[in-house]
Amino acid sequence: MRIARTIAELRDAVRSARAAGKRIGLVPTMGAFHEGHLALMRRAKEATSGGFVVVSLFVNPTQFNDPADLARYPRDEMRDAELARAAGVDLLFAPAPEEVYPPGFATTVEVARLSAPLEGAMRGPEHFRGVATVVTKLLNMVQPDDAFFGQKDAQQALVISRLVRDLDIPARIEICPTAREADGLAMSSRNVRLDPESRRRAPAIARALHDVEARVAAGERDMRRAIDGARSILAEARIDPEYFEAVSADTLDPVAHLGDRTLVALAARVGGVRLIDNVIVSPPTAP
Ligand code: AMP
Repeated sequence: MRIARTIAELRDAVRSARAAGKRIGLVPTMGAFHEGHLALMRRAKEATSGGFVVVSLFVNPTQFNDPADLARYPRDEMRDAELARAAGVDLLFAPAPEEVYPPGFATTVEVARLSAPLEGAMRGPEHFRGVATVVTKLLNMVQPDDAFFGQKDAQQALVISRLVRDLDIPARIEICPTAREADGLAMSSRNVRLDPESRRRAPAIARALHDVEARVAAGERDMRRAIDGARSILAEARIDPEYFEAVSADTLDPVAHLGDRTLVALAARVGGVRLIDNVIVSPPTAP
């Protein structure tokens, strides 16, 4: 596996792979790899039929609304490089911030409406502006056939799918399932910052989402009641959610009555670490 630091090196490597007839896959990440990231990398290798898989490792400063969160973000490039290599990645693109944002950088991408609720409301408009801009840049730098993102960040996946469609970027976007720890906790680079007591409380987030799924499976159609019913699971773990909402999985508009593909999204701070998770629920289909 090679490591590229500059866009020129990256483009050279991608050009050679294309000339050799390979399909190009891209997995954008901020590093601190866990099984969720590695599953995306393995899926990229598989979906491109053994093509050329590029993983970008860039802790994008423009999407952090909280400078302390950026400063504390876990970084270990040597470990990440070894894990990526073992997952079959061909090229790790790990640029310095100045390579991505040269002096005079002035252009941003903003996906209206989809960026506003949930994470956008909590983290401010700069968050998804930062995400949309950096992902647009990465898609332009690599020009992949396929790019892979996680359902764990459901709103981000939606924002990216929309910008790719709206800006006619010729890449296929694939959203991959959320990888979880054995106790249900969604894997996240931030989990390493949970102290032992918070780590024990954190799985209540996934349990609360699962409880909403169970209530829907049992016939509940009123999403407010389904969510309110699940709140006691969070309360028992002393977790006070920033949001716990049912929205359309396609538009993110609020959903009062269960519809086809309703996204139930939850964000909470546990011991100072901000965690997000979600599930998609649908009315049971007739047998
Ligand atoms: P990050 O490094 O956190 O920016 O994540 C890089 C990519 O991995 C994004 O597309 C995330 O949605 C995805 N990802 C992060 N955590 C998980 C997870 N637990 N399961 C699946 N995908 C994930």
